[in-house]
Amino acid sequence: MRVTFLGTGTSYGIPMPGCDCPVCRSDDPRDRRHRTAMLIESPDATLLLDTPPDLRTQCLAFDIRRIDGVLMTHDHADHLFGFDDLRAYTNRMPEPMPVWASAGTAQTLRRIFAYLDQPPLPGTSLARIALHVAEEPFDFMGFRLTPLPAEHGRADMIGWKFESEGRSFAAIPDCKTIPPETLALCRGVDLAVLDALRIRPHPTHMNLDESVAALKAIGAKHSLVIHLCHEVSHVQAEQRLPDGIAPAHDGLRIEW
Ligand SMILES: [Zn+2]
Ligand SMILES: [Zn+2]
Ligand SMILES: [Zn+2]
Repeated sequence: MRVTFLGTGTSYGIPMPGCDCPVCRSDDPRDRRHRTAMLIESPDATLLLDTPPDLRTQCLAFDIRRIDGVLMTHDHADHLFGFDDLRAYTNRMPEPMPVWASAGTAQTLRRIFAYLDQPPLPGTSLARIALHVAEEPFDFMGFRLTPLPAEHGRADMIGWKFESEGRSFAAIPDCKTIPPETLALCRGVDLAVLDALRIRPHPTHMNLDESVAALKAIGAKHSLVIHLCHEVSHVQAEQRLPDGIAPAHDGLRIEW
């Protein structure tokens, strides 16, 4: 399995437009964070987690040649508004691209992208999507995919667990708390990735300390935090985190 972090930032991205803070002005390339998305690959399949507003830029930067399916986490703008950029890939696919989402996120997608439920006009090239509501684990192209319900404000939030060829990866990009049933599904995965917005608490995101506690409960072989905001630099996050837990950064690639 190979996981590539296409983006690791919170909703504003870093630098935030118009901001002169030390993190937004940092020379450390790890402090430049696009909105959060990941590419999960096996020898047979390429899956995308979320469609942030930066998706087109990320697809070009990482030279993504194909996307076989998309796993959506929730309907906040920073995870959704690159959705229409999938069109570049669906145009070349013989069948509609499968996309899985929670019931609430699927409803939002149908409201924003009304073409999902309309027959295409002849000669046009709208994204051809097969949208599925994910409530149970399912198999797709050699992956076992499990939705991971989590609490994140008013969003109908799900993280995802990916299992392939004896390897496992769990990612919950945005969350405040993780219910015990989801913790049980994540326990002992090879790689776990969680939300950690900043050092101060936030009403709908974990801060670094909350994320550390949840990652220790999961007990993955490797643990990373993402979705950092401009209040904490990569180096500051590294210093704050205990051994065995690190901040991810854009372009980080883990293969095992
Ligand atoms: Zn987010
Ligand atoms: Zn800033
Ligand atoms: Zn969110």
